[in-house]
Amino acid sequence: MTINQAEFVVSNSDYKMCPELNQPEYAFIGRSNVGKSSLINMLTGRNNLAKTSGTPGKTQLINHFKINDSWYIVDLPGYGYAKVSKRDRRKFKGMIYHFLEQRLDLMCVFVLLDSRIPPQNSDLEFMNWLGEKGIPFVMCFTKIENLKAYELDENLAAYKAKMLETWEDLPQIFLTSSRSKAGREDILDFIEQTNPMYDEDH
Ligand code: GDP
Repeated sequence: MTINQAEFVVSNSDYKMCPELNQPEYAFIGRSNVGKSSLINMLTGRNNLAKTSGTPGKTQLINHFKINDSWYIVDLPGYGYAKVSKRDRRKFKGMIYHFLEQRLDLMCVFVLLDSRIPPQNSDLEFMNWLGEKGIPFVMCFTKIENLKAYELDENLAAYKAKMLETWEDLPQIFLTSSRSKAGREDILDFIEQTNPMYDEDH
């Protein structure tokens, strides 16, 4: 898929305020610093569409981006901020979880995972929750250019083994790097193939 158009539409702090857009949406989520903004910029070919973070607090909104006038990227707040109070963390969790549960246009959640680090409980818990709710998701490993091939293989194997402790099958896996653009075609092809299912369901 060629990206001809990518534009910011709206930010919301509450899923109830997100407009009905009536087109397929793909949510991107992960722990802060996983490389989410960089990945969204890499996929869309825009340097500054999503803000590359640094400061937790600035990116704690649900952001909609319209792509090719036909589908949306939803940039969800990162989870697992160490610096955020428990109360705020609960608030964000509620906002994210409600959005994911209620949003009928949502086709798939891209769960971003840093390929350089071992499986994290917050990621595993989040994916288990998606599974319990029957929300479709894929695992999207980031920053893969930063590892040697054998290190990547080892880290992926550790993740798969951990997932298979609770899952019968693994979700689809994407291997990406914003620096090398690895995974870009795979993700855009996946979205292109998934988009027509929206019309069948709506
Ligand atoms: P976000 O907080 O998840 O939106 O993450 P950012 O996109 O702001 O990236 C967090 C940090 O990871 C920044 O220092 C980026 O330069 C770095 N980063 C992002 N993508 C990549 C990548 O593909 N490879 C490497 N090596 N670093 C990356």
